[in-house]
Amino acid sequence: MTEQQAEKIYDLFIVGGGINGCGIARDAAGRGLSVALAEMNDLASATSSASTKLFHGGLRYLEYFEFRLVQEALKERENLLVAMPHISWPMRFVLPYHPDMRFEGETPTSKLLNFTMPWTKGQRPAWLIRLGLFLYDNMGGRKILPGTQTIDLKSNPVGDPLKSKFEHAYEYSDCWVEDSRLVVLNARDAQRLGAKIMTRTKVIDATSKNGIWTITTKDQLTGKEQTYKSKLLVNAGGPWVEHIIKDLAHIKTNEGVRLVRGSHIVTKKLFDHDKAYFFQGEDGRIIFAIPYEQDFTLIGTTDQDHEDVSTKPECSEEEQEYLCKFASQYFEKNITRDDIVWTYSGVRPLYDDHASSSTAATREYVLKLNETGQAPALNIFGGKITTYRRLAESAIAKFAHFFPTMSDEWTERAPLPGGDFKHDQFESLVSDLHSDLPFLEHQTAHRLVRAYGTDAKEMFTGISTEKDLGTHFGHGIYAPELDWVIANEWVMTAEDYLWRRTKMGLRVSDSQKAQIQEYIIGKLNSQRA
Ligand SMILES: Cc1cc2nc3c(=O)[nH]c(=O)nc-3n(C[C@H](O)[C@H](O)[C@H](O)COP(=O)(O)OP(=O)(O)OC[C@H]3O[C@@H](n4cnc5c(N)ncnc54)[C@H](O)[C@@H]3O)c2cc1C
Repeated sequence: MTEQQAEKIYDLFIVGGGINGCGIARDAAGRGLSVALAEMNDLASATSSASTKLFHGGLRYLEYFEFRLVQEALKERENLLVAMPHISWPMRFVLPYHPDMRFEGETPTSKLLNFTMPWTKGQRPAWLIRLGLFLYDNMGGRKILPGTQTIDLKSNPVGDPLKSKFEHAYEYSDCWVEDSRLVVLNARDAQRLGAKIMTRTKVIDATSKNGIWTITTKDQLTGKEQTYKSKLLVNAGGPWVEHIIKDLAHIKTNEGVRLVRGSHIVTKKLFDHDKAYFFQGEDGRIIFAIPYEQDFTLIGTTDQDHEDVSTKPECSEEEQEYLCKFASQYFEKNITRDDIVWTYSGVRPLYDDHASSSTAATREYVLKLNETGQAPALNIFGGKITTYRRLAESAIAKFAHFFPTMSDEWTERAPLPGGDFKHDQFESLVSDLHSDLPFLEHQTAHRLVRAYGTDAKEMFTGISTEKDLGTHFGHGIYAPELDWVIANEWVMTAEDYLWRRTKMGLRVSDSQKAQIQEYIIGKLNSQRA
């Protein structure tokens, strides 16, 4: 049975609750547009929780001459740090230099060098890396992030975990971001500004008639169907973008998506400092090894064509072997599949520019406004976590003419929920929370401020003794946090909480997970009753 939502006509109906859908929802709602967003699973359940989690310009994209993209992303890093000092922080990257490093043969830079300096034989010379880092330091402007330095790996402790043949490195700046929290914070802000955010709500059809879309959704829990009306359809379906265009919205276009899978492995921590490594391979690719969740190291990523959106991306045995071997070329310790404690994999929904390799396919975002049907639709291809805010601004600029009374851009440096403090006040926020709640372990206070920023205090309102915390589910997870994420962050299962609102999934046992699931379901049932 399909039920029609009263006759309300939304300005925008957004398909997809990844970073692009939620970023557009927040920006548009803040400009006074009426917005509805449907996500078929949990927020950030697809690509937006499977990234390398960097706010970065993308040093390697310079070799592809993607200067516009790199510059936009570099500029954006500090805007984002200011707007979300809880979930994002500066990180230094150590790039060991050695003469065996090779280009990917297809980059414009390698073609140019092979032509002008054939004796370099595909090597990435040191002067070129220095030039790249010089551009990287200067293209985007920096006030918070320090610039590049040369370091001696023989005397600097960051050299200790590496093989002794690596003697020199460059150290440069980028930033870390908790990708799935970025999505939920955008969704929360969008909702605060009036947007209707629906999770576990799949769009199953969109039909345009007389300038209006009728969108049919299906509740993934109850099976109930509902229709919504909207002036514009925004297709932020990520890997499903082409399926939505062709099969759900019946739009005639030749635009296509290129699905490129990227996988990561997580090991127990391989080094004891807070800097990340940027490793260059002999195959022209690069990987990162990044300090992760205090006790772990994150290694990735791969680049593999992924044929079919209906196949769930998983880190294959070959990808695991590849990443272990790649990292073992640099680390003193030989890393094997036995060291892996977790893997994850995501699919980049890149615009199909018919590049020869998945590594070479453009990382630029492409926004296509389609007006061939009876109502307009905006299809979104590609994008990066780093440029999500700029992508939202560009998306809105594409359809601004439909909404002449809409207000101007406003999101630059506007704090996300919990992010209303200065980036250098983080530690004092942790100390404040810890002195208010001395019975919490310091590392729990730290984790809570990292995840929720200034909202961490609100979560524990009215709690003055350890007993008030209620059930302890292990590893510093208490009932008030679960209550809060259920009430404010669309948490409906233990997975949502353990792998997307937090990464506590790395720590809890199966029985603790079951207890958390039971608690969440009980809470949701009692709310429904
Ligand atoms: C391995 C990897 C590493 C990356 N690393 C970085 C990085 O370090 N830094 C960076 O800036 N970028 C990085 N990226 C890029 C970045 O992660 C993506 O560009 C971004 O997450 C794409 O977001 P999205 O919203 O377009 O897609 P998604 O996050 O996939 O969101 C699309 C959503 O649409 C929903 N959906 C689809 N169909 C329907 C339907 N019919 N009804 C309702 N909902 C639907 C899906 O469930 C999904 O949640 C990386 C990407 C990958 C794969």
